[in-house]
Order: sequence, then C-alpha cells, then structure tokens
Amino acid sequence: MENLSRRLFLQKFGIGASTTAVAVLLPSIEMTASSSKLYEGRRLNIALCGLGRYAGYLAEGIVGSQYCRVAGIVTGTPSKAVDWKKKYDIPDASIYNYQNFDEIKKNKDIDMVYVVLPNSMHKEFTIRAAEAGKHVIVEKPMAVTVADCREMIAACKNSGVQLALGYRLHYEPYNLEIKRLGQEKVFGQVRLIEASLGYKSADPNSWRMKKAMAGGGPLMNLGVYCVQCSRYVLGEEPVSVTAQFGPVIDKELFKEVEESITWQLQFPSGAVSTSTSAYNCNIDRFFAAADEGFFELSPAISYGPFKGRTSKGELNFPTINQQGTQCDEIAKVLLDGRKLPDHIRGEEGMQDVRIIQAIYTAARTGKRVSLSHV
Ligand code: NAD
Repeated sequence: MENLSRRLFLQKFGIGASTTAVAVLLPSIEMTASSSKLYEGRRLNIALCGLGRYAGYLAEGIVGSQYCRVAGIVTGTPSKAVDWKKKYDIPDASIYNYQNFDEIKKNKDIDMVYVVLPNSMHKEFTIRAAEAGKHVIVEKPMAVTVADCREMIAACKNSGVQLALGYRLHYEPYNLEIKRLGQEKVFGQVRLIEASLGYKSADPNSWRMKKAMAGGGPLMNLGVYCVQCSRYVLGEEPVSVTAQFGPVIDKELFKEVEESITWQLQFPSGAVSTSTSAYNCNIDRFFAAADEGFFELSPAISYGPFKGRTSKGELNFPTINQQGTQCDEIAKVLLDGRKLPDHIRGEEGMQDVRIIQAIYTAARTGKRVSLSHV
C-alpha cells in the first residue's frame, strides 16, 4: 500500500517516482490527520463500476463533493456509456466495459474503482481493480461469502492498494451520534437494541430475488445495516446469534430468497440486539434502551432526512449528502497517503458477512450459533 500511495502522491504532485532526492523531502506516508492537509485543492479520480440505480446516487454525490471526481465508468451497456459520458464529461479513454476493464491499469487518470455491481460480482471486480493497481470502494454487502471477502482483502494487500466498504452511515451525523451515545455510555449501559430495515419489493426479475446474484434476501441487502449499527453502537462483537425466517406470504416471488427474517445478537456485555429485515413491509428504525434512558432514530438507515430523540429530548443534526460526504472523507485519507480507518476497511465488511452467514445458519437449524472472531 505504501508504495502505491507514495506513487499516487508523487503523481498528484507531478513529481517523478524515481526522484529519490525529492522523495525524502516529502511528508511520511503515515501522516496524522492533524499534520496533513494534502487533499486541499485536489481530487480523487473515481471510476464507477456498474451504472445502476445506486451508481446514479453516487455520481450525484461525487459531483457535489469537494475532493472527488467521476473520472471513469465501467458498464456493459453501450447506451449508458453515451449518456454518462455526456452528463459527467468522461473522456473515451476512461470508459470501460466488463471485458476490457483490466486495461484500466494503464490509466493514470483513475485512482480508485467504486464497485456498485450485484453482490455476487463484488469479488471479481474488486480483485481485478486491485490487480490493476487501483484503490477500491466496494458496496455492501462486501461479498456473498466470507471466503470471497478473504480473497478480496488478500488481493488488495498483495497489490498494495486500499479497500474500503461503501458504509455511508459512518459519516452521517445522526448515526455518529447514536454510536457516541452507545459507546460512551451517555445513558449508561445499553441493554437492548432494536434495529430493523425493510421495504416492499415485488420485482421478480431483479437480481435481488436470485440467490446466486444476491447471496440471500433482505438480510444480505438491508440486514447488513442493522448488524453494523448494533456493532457500532455497542462497540462490541456479538458472541452468538439466534434467528427465525418469517412466513413466506408471496410464494411466487420468494422462491429463492427469504421474504423476511428476524434475529437476535447476544453481546459480551449481556446486551441483546433484535432485528428484522424484510421485503414485505416498510420499516426503518433504531431504538436503544440503556440503564438511564433511551435513544432512537426513525428513519435511521435509509438516505434520510433522519429524525431522532433521546430520553432527554430531540436530536437535531444537519441533513447531509451521504454519498458525497462518504467519498470526500475517503478521498481525504487517500490523498493524504494515510491508512483508511478500521471501521470502513475490508475486515469490517468481512465481519458483517460472517455474522450474516451465522444468522442464516441459526434460522435454518433453529439453533443458537456461536460466533468466532478474527
Ligand atoms: P441495480 O440493479 O440498480 O444496478 C446493478 C448494475 O449492475 C446495473 O447497472 C446492471 O446493468 C449491472 N449488472 C452487470 N451485470 C449484471 C448482471 N449479471 N445482473 C444484473 N445486473 C448486472 O442495483 P443497485 O441498487 O445499484 O445495487 C448495486 C450494489 O450497490 C449492490 O451491491 C447493492 O447492495 C449496493 N447498494 C448500496 C446502497 C447503499 O445505500 N450503500 C444502496 C443501494 C444499493
């Protein structure tokens, strides 16, 4: 990573990588946040890989960002390439399809690839981007198996690039506040969390209904957020899980993936987090009961605007563009040549996939599943 970041740094400052006499004058790659502001006036060049619905939100966020640029695209649909080229002023040399994607290696105008493809494709395109020497942001869930996550982490490590998860809520003020309230025990020890996310989904042709593409149903797609927020509010790792599939109401639609699922995570402090993710109802909420009060958000996880309160009163934070803010914060770290924070790195995404797999095992077997940690 150090070598590539250094190269990126040198490139950005227009300095030849072989200029060792100059290189020694450069700040250390492991600079602290306070000592480094190298991102000022610069932009991280991002290629979006997969131009579906969420890539559209990301592109809008990046356009409004301070430190990023939509610099390239990867798509299997030529008409999308034409539209995106026009809309985001993307040069032909930075437009790829899934076959010639590896040529991105030669493209000095792309620093990072943002993988926004169906879940089962995250592994392949993360690894190909890493092997092309590009940093990677991969959308949630990181992959469909823990083994895939492990390969993705290894590929990025071997290529000396950094791997980030698209965990936008780590930069969202209401979620940062519930994380603070929980971890700092502002209302005492949290005993019970309820965190659920669901929406009505009825498209039989969507990849989200295909187990091979999605890896599972609403748990993979939405439940990953509930698992995440339970972990970051408590600042603990779950030790075991119990789970139950909900009834299948639409038997035509839900042939391959679950329609809904409910689970309970047990944490070392004794705290329990209970969640439901569903494709048959709309729910978006978080509640924490602590020894000396409560705090809650609803909406809590979607794109906002969020609303929240504690046992002491309303929470009031600005509504931000989550995608733009997330990309800016990642860009600042990379342009500075620093290491990404632990809470958005590949290992974090892999831990969520590991917990999700344990939830599925618990629901299938009806037994409590113990969770081992790396
Ligand atoms: P989408 O269906 O709108 O887009 C998927 C894209 O992949 C399309 O451009 C499609 O053409 C392309 N694609 C390539 N090969 C494909 C294939 N074999 N089958 C289907 N599509 C194929 O999906 P989306 O909502 O943009 O989701 C993409 C990723 O982003 C998923 O991993 C999803 O979990 C994630 N996502 C994250 C958030 C968030 O808030 N962080 C929100 C939505 C989606």
